[in-house]
Amino acid sequence: MMKITMIVTICSAIMFGAFADSPEITLTTKKGYTLEFVIQDTTFDKAIQRRLTDVFFSVYPKLAKTYNKNAVKTVSITIDTTYDGVAYAHNGKVVIAQAWLKKNPGDVDVVTHEVMHIVQAYPPRSGPGWLVEGIADYVRYKYGIDNAGANWTLPELKPEHHYTNSYRISARFLDWVEHNKKKGTVKKLDKALRERAYKKQIWETITGASLDELWDAYTAG
Ligand SMILES: [Zn+2]
Repeated sequence: MMKITMIVTICSAIMFGAFADSPEITLTTKKGYTLEFVIQDTTFDKAIQRRLTDVFFSVYPKLAKTYNKNAVKTVSITIDTTYDGVAYAHNGKVVIAQAWLKKNPGDVDVVTHEVMHIVQAYPPRSGPGWLVEGIADYVRYKYGIDNAGANWTLPELKPEHHYTNSYRISARFLDWVEHNKKKGTVKKLDKALRERAYKKQIWETITGASLDELWDAYTAG
């Protein structure tokens, strides 16, 4: 009995950051959603942490309500000191590079893009990667809290663009389809991807035009 108590004590000390080099974990719950915020470097700017937390609570419940009511209720965000990319999300966990935030402290809507991936929760091989990323950036464009503060905009259409270019280029195309062809297209695509029902023909079913016809109409301006 004594031994078990000891083990539990040691484990909780590790989990709650009793050692200098262990992460600092903050749990926040609002309106049924919980954010676990993991800081590896405890000197990380608390003002940025607060802003990222605010973005999470203003955006995530809205995205879950709009796109996927079964989206997980608990999400973790880790500010990673070693990751050399920007950010990624998987299985309810978001990882953001500390170096990126240091260089781009205004890029708080990186959270909006990443938590959309958690809302998407698509099974493996559910559809093309450009569309998965295009939807996440479309959502950032539509629901982002301070895209202007990060100088983040959808790029102007250029002749060399193609819908498979992914991210903002695909997001701009999705926004055009929403406004010029069929409102609600993104919601339908998102649902189909989650239910493994996505096929290229779905564009025609939803909008009346094929994906390539839509792109041609979009680029013809
Ligand atoms: Zn992404």
